[in-house]
Parts: sequence; C-alpha cells; structure tokens
Amino acid sequence: MDNRFVAIMLGPPGAGKGTQAVRVAEHYQVPHISTGDILRDNVARETELGLKAHSFMEGGDLVPDELIIELIADRIGHDDAENGFLLDGFPRTLAQAVSLEDLLREREMPIDVVALLDVEDEEIVRRISSRFLCRECKRDANAGQGTISDVCPHCGGELYQREDDKAETVQNRLEVYRRQTAPLVEYYEGKNLLLKVDGFGRVDEISNRLFKSLERELDPEAG
Ligand code: ADP
Ligand code: ZN
Repeated sequence: MDNRFVAIMLGPPGAGKGTQAVRVAEHYQVPHISTGDILRDNVARETELGLKAHSFMEGGDLVPDELIIELIADRIGHDDAENGFLLDGFPRTLAQAVSLEDLLREREMPIDVVALLDVEDEEIVRRISSRFLCRECKRDANAGQGTISDVCPHCGGELYQREDDKAETVQNRLEVYRRQTAPLVEYYEGKNLLLKVDGFGRVDEISNRLFKSLERELDPEAG
C-alpha cells in the first residue's frame, strides 16, 4: 500500500490556508511547505532569492515562476519530503502546476488531493485587515477570535502586521488570485483531484470539515 501523502492547499489569500495546512500536515505527518513562509524567511535573511522576491511580494504580485519552481524543486528534494508533503501557496499559476507535475513524475509521487478553501471576498478583506502575527510563536493572534489584542493571546509576544496585508495591497492580491491562480480550480477539477471545502466559520469548525472531507476522499471505504 502506498502511504505517501501529497496534497495541495488552494484558496484565495486570507482564506486561512496556512492555519489549516499546519494541522493537516501534522495529522498526515508530512512537512508543511509554504512558499510564502519560505520567501518571507529569505527576505528577512536578505538572501539572493529574498532580494529578488521582495519587491514583488510587497506589492502583492507573484514572484516569477522560475524562482518559485527552483525553490520547490529544492525543497521537495529534502529527506523529510520522502513520504510526501503538503503544499501551501504553490502552485499559483498554470505554469507552476505543470512544472510540479514534471517534478512529481520524476519522483513517482502522484498528487492525492487538492483542497480548495472557499471564502467570499468580503470575508477575506475582513480577515486580512485584522491579521496580526506574533513575533515569538508566529501564530495569527486574532484568528477566529473576533477580537484584536495588543499582545499575543498564546504567549504574550509582540504582534506585527504583514507588510502585504495593507488594504491597498490586499485588493491587488485578490486580483492576482482571480487572474492567475483561480484557473487552477478548473484545472484540478478536470483531473478529478479537487476537494472543495467551505472556509467560513471558526478555525476548528473549518478543520473538522476539512478533515472529514479528506478522510472521505482518501479512504472512501471508511466513510
Ligand atoms: P497569501 O496566501 O496570504 O497571499 P502567502 O504567504 O502564500 O500569502 O504569499 C505571500 C506572497 O509571496 C505572495 O503574495 C507572492 O508575492 C509570494 N508567493 C508565495 N507563493 C508564491 C508562488 N507560488 N508563486 C509566486 N509568488 C508566490
Ligand atoms: Zn505568540
């Protein structure tokens, strides 16, 4: 039996992909690979990749495909990715999706499922504008709490807002999503890999929904 797990989390910015992706990856015991996190880390460390990516990210535009594909090819080659991984924020263009297929074919690792977190635009804008991250534990302080705190409710750490979470940039990110990433929904639907999950509600509710759908999809016998 093949017990590898290769999955993609798809959805608009602010849909809560990151939060849910962490949980799913932990459950299936595979690394959570977030291109956004990897890029932000590179920006902070001022690596060559970070310096190239920074201006695109700041404006809410996509980083060029070549850079991202190189990053992913490298990352999924690490030992911890041998039994699969959960991709969060990748692919975001058709070209990236096609390159991913080539990479996975070489490794004989087919995609098991593409989970789409479905959230309305108004909710997205509301969520992003109240998103504050903790410098210490990296968590989103206000996720699902409906309140805005001064310090991290989990560890008391200092909070900050992501540079691309400013209102002007959010609109551009939504447009970029519609134009460049949304076509992937149909693409994966056509390959019979798409699992649509309602992303509205509390974080735990969404997780429950997501886990149930994943179980049904991956192990139809069970459920
Ligand atoms: P969100 O999903 O909330 O928009 P991410 O953390 O996934 O945020 O991504 C932040 C930024 O990093 C994007 O707006 C984009 O500039 C860049 N980025 C992340 N993943 C990709 C990708 N696969 N292709 C191109 N750019 C990317
Ligand atoms: Zn914290």
